[in-house]
Amino acid sequence: MESSPDIIVAQATAPIPSGIGVLRVSGRSMEALVRSLTGKGYPVARQASLRSFYNRAGDLIDHGLILYFPAPHSFTGEDVIELHAHGSPVVLQELQVHCLQWGARLANPGEFTLRAYLNNKIDLNQAEAVADLIHAESSQAARSAAMALSGRFSEVIHSMISDLTMLRVRLESDFDFTDEELPVFHEISFRSSLNHLLERLTRLVENSRQGALLREGKQIVLIGSPNVGKSSLLNALTEEDHALVTPIAGTTRDLIRGHMVLQGIPIHLVDTAGIRETGDLVELAGIDRTWLAANKSDLALVVVDVRNGLTEDDRSLIGRLLPDQPKLIVANKIDLLSPECDAVSELKHSLAGVLPVIPVSAQTRDGLDVLKQEMLSGMGIGRTSEAPLLLARERHIGILVQAMGHLQEALRTLESEFVAEELRQTQLKLAQISGKEFAADDLLGEIFSRFCIGK
Ligand code: GDP
Repeated sequence: MESSPDIIVAQATAPIPSGIGVLRVSGRSMEALVRSLTGKGYPVARQASLRSFYNRAGDLIDHGLILYFPAPHSFTGEDVIELHAHGSPVVLQELQVHCLQWGARLANPGEFTLRAYLNNKIDLNQAEAVADLIHAESSQAARSAAMALSGRFSEVIHSMISDLTMLRVRLESDFDFTDEELPVFHEISFRSSLNHLLERLTRLVENSRQGALLREGKQIVLIGSPNVGKSSLLNALTEEDHALVTPIAGTTRDLIRGHMVLQGIPIHLVDTAGIRETGDLVELAGIDRTWLAANKSDLALVVVDVRNGLTEDDRSLIGRLLPDQPKLIVANKIDLLSPECDAVSELKHSLAGVLPVIPVSAQTRDGLDVLKQEMLSGMGIGRTSEAPLLLARERHIGILVQAMGHLQEALRTLESEFVAEELRQTQLKLAQISGKEFAADDLLGEIFSRFCIGK
């Protein structure tokens, strides 16, 4: 028997020509597969060994390194083989075909990590962190993912769960031994322990929200009359040439998107159609979308040409933004001002300090650093010293907030028998985060389906 349904194979590196490409195989009893691939049995565990790789017909495919990680000391907790060949898609394909012919099957997205989870090598947070680390958009995001992968976030959750267990034990023993209400001295220390736990949980929710920001980012929209320099500003901010820049009014007819990273947070910039009275239907459609995008964004940058001050058109644009929509005025083209002209002060004066005015030149890039800082504070993002423990998803934040709700309820019902149930619910919620005691199949399916093949 040379096949085993348990063996999965996938390319762990990108399928493009590169120096080295890695094929990963995980399962049980793979010595025969190794023999048919290399003509020899298992290499020494956890040491790179140079071997020749052959196809089923015995023709040489490549020379490369083979690594063997015997169960349970491997990523998946099963026997794992890694083949490091030259990074030619053809070579890796041939190696993969050999494994498939031998009886392995192609791994589903995330299946290596799923097996690691099922074999108790990692918990759900760590499994999600694997995907986060691969997809991290900034070094801060990567650091948070690495921290979650190392188990820091899970440790914090587990320590809260164990504190909760202690509190529940204390409570149960009090209930067992007295028919009366809890003695006063017990209640006070119990209340302060609960308060302390609630504080920790509140800080964790804050930290997770910061982590969610690193993952999801913010959306900023640029609005303004035609030709004030919105596309130029988008290009200057993202340092790319996304938008077509021309001196003809009404050139930018559609929403143009660009991306940048500020303080580790991915920022999605949307440049909108130049807004002016027009009979052009295509342009009108773009204008409609401008307002939809503007009033849904985290910040609107109202770009004006500093030489013209605040025009009637600019005023009516600002008036169409919702009152609570965060906004900044970007006074562009300051490079065209003569030194004696004080247009920026005049602009600030005409806005009577109601909105911040940031003078910039998209052309010379003057003022862009100040603008970036103002963009962050305009979205309510301060400088953070503490790196998030994980790139939290809605799943984490939702569960943590529910756990907080149960804990608050426990504090409120401290003198009744309901407190025990609220503490139990808090604990159940926290356990859902690491998936140790609860993991419905659909939840697992949802989490692991977002992985790429080979993870
Ligand atoms: P939009 O219609 O608002 O997107 O404006 P564009 O970005 O297409 O710019 C319109 C014109 O203004 C182009 O000729 C740009 O080169 C020019 N422009 C944009 N920003 C600046 C700036 O800061 N300084 C100067 N001198 N010209 C600029």
